[in-house]
Amino acid sequence: MAMMLILLGAPGVGKGTQAQKLMAHFGVPQISTGDILRAEVRRKTPLGQQALTYMNKGELVPDNVILDMVAQRLKASNAKNGVIFDGFPRTIAQAQGLDGILKQSGKKLDAVLSIEVPVQRIEERLSSRRSCATCGAVFNVLLNPDEIDNHECPKGQPLIVQREDDRPETIERRLKVYTEQTEPLKDYYRQTGLLKEVPGEGTVSEVFSRLLQAL
Ligand code: AMP
Repeated sequence: MAMMLILLGAPGVGKGTQAQKLMAHFGVPQISTGDILRAEVRRKTPLGQQALTYMNKGELVPDNVILDMVAQRLKASNAKNGVIFDGFPRTIAQAQGLDGILKQSGKKLDAVLSIEVPVQRIEERLSSRRSCATCGAVFNVLLNPDEIDNHECPKGQPLIVQREDDRPETIERRLKVYTEQTEPLKDYYRQTGLLKEVPGEGTVSEVFSRLLQAL
């Protein structure tokens, strides 16, 4: 089914997890600008090296870099029936840039889903987030400690790490950047009638059902 969605929400509200489920449900790929950047960092490309200085400080990578990356990714053949944007757009300039890119290719957004979680819960969720550096699986040490112990990595030897930017010093900065630069996107998309706000607390499947209902 064709589906062009944006997942909005502060860092750590579960956008990545829900994007995976939406991807399986609608059969369209996820475009996570954070994942693309982390892959560039791992491969030590010039783009990755440029991005890392912003990422480690919890700051946003410049809009033109992100928009080029997204425009490129949208040309892939598996993106022709739609995509799920996760962590993009993050600024009004990126949203306007995306409008331009979609217009040129005759595509349209179906909805913007904003996952809402109170700030004090977000800090808790980010500081307890861990991931497997080998396969990218994401865990929570508070909610599901067993999942980490029992992780059978499909790609080899499991390596459980904390994201550099999930450390307390950087979390605070990322939340501030979200409030100042990304949250205004809710008004931007409310005006176009595309915004749907969905409570993000509860289990993964509860939140997923709410997202489907909102659509
Ligand atoms: P995320 O995994 O979405 O939390 O992204 C991790 C980091 O990558 C962010 O803190 C930013 O430094 C950078 N980043 C990811 N997506 C974007 C974006 N759309 N615009 C600017 N910076 C981004």
